[in-house]
Amino acid sequence: TKATETRAFEADVSRLLHMMVHSVYSDKDVFLRELISNAADACEKLRFEAVSRPELLGDDPKPRISISADADNKQITVEDNGIGMSRDDMAEALGTIARSGTRAFIERVGTGTEDTQLIGQFGVGFYSAFMVADRVDVISRLAGSDEAWRWSSDGKGSYEIAPAPLEAAPRRGTRVVLHLMDDAVSYTGSYRLEQLAKSQSGHVPVPITLVEKPGAEARDIADGTALWVRPKSEIKPEEYTDFYRSVAGQYDEPAATIHFRAEGRQEYSVLAFVPGSRPFDLFDQDRKGRMKLYVRRVFITDDADLLPRYLRFVRGLVDSADLPLNVSREMIQESPLLASIRKGLTNRVLGDLAKLAENEGEAYAKIWENFGVVLKEGLYEDYERREQLLKLARFHSTTSGEAWRGLADYVAAMKDGQKAIFFMAGDDRARLEASPQLEGFKARGIEVLLLTDPVDSFWVTMAPDFDGKPFKSVTQGVAELSDIPLLDDAKKPDAAATPEVDRFLAFVKSALGDAVSDVKASDRLTESAVCLVAPEHGPDRQFERLMNAAGR
Ligand code: ADP
Ligand code: MG
Repeated sequence: TKATETRAFEADVSRLLHMMVHSVYSDKDVFLRELISNAADACEKLRFEAVSRPELLGDDPKPRISISADADNKQITVEDNGIGMSRDDMAEALGTIARSGTRAFIERVGTGTEDTQLIGQFGVGFYSAFMVADRVDVISRLAGSDEAWRWSSDGKGSYEIAPAPLEAAPRRGTRVVLHLMDDAVSYTGSYRLEQLAKSQSGHVPVPITLVEKPGAEARDIADGTALWVRPKSEIKPEEYTDFYRSVAGQYDEPAATIHFRAEGRQEYSVLAFVPGSRPFDLFDQDRKGRMKLYVRRVFITDDADLLPRYLRFVRGLVDSADLPLNVSREMIQESPLLASIRKGLTNRVLGDLAKLAENEGEAYAKIWENFGVVLKEGLYEDYERREQLLKLARFHSTTSGEAWRGLADYVAAMKDGQKAIFFMAGDDRARLEASPQLEGFKARGIEVLLLTDPVDSFWVTMAPDFDGKPFKSVTQGVAELSDIPLLDDAKKPDAAATPEVDRFLAFVKSALGDAVSDVKASDRLTESAVCLVAPEHGPDRQFERLMNAAGR
């Protein structure tokens, strides 16, 4: 097992690398951020391991990341003294696609090269090195191991793993050497490297040094102070943005920043962001959150359910002062302390969103646009906070045009005699608006919410009410419109209970037989002769359709 071995990349990796190399994506800068973020992750993993095995730190307890440039040899090196990788780790981590984001990227882009813009949006981790390098060497020594290994590839289909002499390897951790392509040699300029590292990764919780050229002295370019422990008033918006990008793997601006420190019975800091656009993994099957858990600045896991699923778009971290460091990740999950952090954090996020909705309607509307569908899952998953979530919910309606409408505004605009919040659910807004079922409502100037997300049918059938007003489908039961006056210019519906009408209804009922459960005169229509409605109790028409489509 000590010999050199050449292995083929997993098929998906080959495709990805091909895309990278032929990428038209202009922002190749991101490679540095990805390498630094891996180096920082490795340092944090080591810190975590060292809690139970302090000997791993040896005489080199301080985490560090060092970047060095060598223009003459067209090389950039990023080295860390973190956890390192074993031979198997290397084959697994660098030869296969480990990240769901990378896989999602490949699925979206397929084999073409036209859409590689998306690289920026996905952030494809380690492999982004091949945007600037035509050969990458990774020399690594796992903490506590007496072997070192060298992984090497030109990014064209295969890689090689061979034992590395210990004297040519880091004493612990990983060295990534990029052999730059000709058009990327300018990255070795010290000013450029420093600017890049500072702006993209200045707030990773590990200090970074730069060696400008071989023989030069290492210079500190980032001190590793965790941004979240600094007072809010001292932090510039750009610093938040940089941090957001590195913690969320996003490349845009955050839509909202949530930074606070909880004190009292529980002490923890939170730095979290609502992304400016939808992260690629928002609709992953497992609907997992992506909040990281730290304990006294030591990274513990990104797998603790720190927020309910309907807030999974929020990215960032919680740093607890109270959780024990030396418990397993599984135990942390069960901890009552965690449950209480989760509760406090959830309330805070919803509270901040509510404030934003109140004070900065436009910014909030954008958040709703991106994440409303996800937030609405909370309407049926989080009974306790349903009222709060209903207040945050925004809708389109028959009278809203392109604007978003909140329920408080809907209720304030209800007509005299109107007892319910009316909605119509379907797939397509234009089709809904053309529906005859709305005629009687339009004729009375009654606003009807148009619910076009599949998730709408779920929460709305759980029959919540808002401000004491029940939600009622316009396609269901009697419309109860007769108490509400028609607008002056509206056509009068003609549903009077005359003997002719009764005879006609009886005739239609017998003609349709079992196909319908009832035939009624209705003040729902003003133009059309007839429409289908669902019974008063039970699912509305759209919910029935969804259930049928799901084969239930
Ligand atoms: P991600 O960081 O999201 O896991 P990457 O593609 O950036 O994805 O890295 C893939 C994996 O390679 C990492 O999960 C890690 O296991 C391994 N790796 C990369 N760089 C290092 C490093 N400097 N030290 C230790 N392991 C690393
Ligand atoms: Mg990474």
